[in-house]
Amino acid sequence: MRILLVSPRSLASEETSKWLRIPQLSLPILAALTPAGHDVVMVEEEVDPLPAAEAWDVVGVTAMTANVHRAYQLASRFRRQGARVILGGIHPSVMPEEAAEHADAVVIGEAEGIWPQVLDDIQHNRLQRFYRNAQPDLANSPLPARVKPRRLLGLPPYLMPIMATRGCPYQCEFCSVHRVYGLGQRHLPIDHVVADIVRNDPRLIMFLDDNIGALRPYAMQLFEALRPLRKKWCGQATVRFILDEELFRAAVRSGLRALFVGVETVEPDACAALRKSPGGIALYDQAIARCRSAGVMFHASLIFGLDEQTPRVFEHTLEFLLRNSVPSISPNILTPYPGTPLFERLTREGRILHTNWTYYDHTNVCYQPRNMSPEELAEKYIDFRRRFLSWSSIAQRLPAQWNVLPWAYLGMNLALRQATGRQEQRFQEYFTWLHNGRATPTFDAPT
Ligand code: SF4
Repeated sequence: MRILLVSPRSLASEETSKWLRIPQLSLPILAALTPAGHDVVMVEEEVDPLPAAEAWDVVGVTAMTANVHRAYQLASRFRRQGARVILGGIHPSVMPEEAAEHADAVVIGEAEGIWPQVLDDIQHNRLQRFYRNAQPDLANSPLPARVKPRRLLGLPPYLMPIMATRGCPYQCEFCSVHRVYGLGQRHLPIDHVVADIVRNDPRLIMFLDDNIGALRPYAMQLFEALRPLRKKWCGQATVRFILDEELFRAAVRSGLRALFVGVETVEPDACAALRKSPGGIALYDQAIARCRSAGVMFHASLIFGLDEQTPRVFEHTLEFLLRNSVPSISPNILTPYPGTPLFERLTREGRILHTNWTYYDHTNVCYQPRNMSPEELAEKYIDFRRRFLSWSSIAQRLPAQWNVLPWAYLGMNLALRQATGRQEQRFQEYFTWLHNGRATPTFDAPT
């Protein structure tokens, strides 16, 4: 069969600089799971156009919440052309009935063990509406089919995304990882991860794991196995990971150069509510200093709009970031993604403003904040970004980066600074939409 695998773009994706883009592995994994004998083409629509007017037997579309509207558009377009369309990914997994209105079948959960069955059922004309997959054992996962997607993703050839684990033992209210991938963590065999790295021989590895250090014994073994490969790598972790001195040192010895850390908030009350840093905010200072002295770039992921935060959160956060010379940040607006406990709670409290998923991309205010109006939250958020990314702030934080990754520091700060002007424009469009009519946003691409 001729199979097209698509990761759709979102409204915001065209504006995302390569410095801020996080690559996905869904398509390479799906391609690797496809039995031999099929003709497979992968398209990351964010960086690559769809092939013009080709006929497909099967189209597999993987979607998150922010791009699911585009996924539905593509699904109806390919179904009209006669293809069997299968939807999967996080959003279809948490909203399967909604997704089923747009597709021939929906895969709920992960693709391992299910995708070959879906293709077999299509060939034998017995396709089911839903395929449920309860957290498969990853021991027999094939190596992702890499060469083509690395080119399609627009990634530099020396950078290789990889995922060694799935799931997270924590249960943050705003996160769907524990609901979709399960509590606890499953992992690939370490020799499997090593084989993938050796086969591709990248200079820099990007671990996409939601929490690389969550399963400590596995993480220690992984870092020991990485050490002789002499590669540099970056990944995502919590502050607890950095504060575990033995684990952190093992990570540094294995080539760790940058960490994306879920700081979320530096407000003591909000922090206590999230149970993110039981030891208090002072531990964040300690973690950042430890990263800096080890030559590891600390990238802070922040959330604005938590119930415990007041408008003063922006001043407090700015003071924290400047005091610690934090190199770079992902400033997110709290987003009640469907499938999360947060979405359920805000729905019960009548605080969800709309369910137009296109705007659920952590840069819009889709709910009623407790201590601010949506407009005030947006206004103060933009002001915060402008001040954190001002020339004087960039210059003030620069000396602390000389021993870390000064070029990455400049690249990420300039990219986020550029994106801030566009974000202000997007807020204006969003609030116009919110207050007038709420028509579904359209995409320019052919439908
Ligand atoms: S936000 Fe991070 S730590 Fe919390 S549940 Fe999600 S992956 Fe785990």
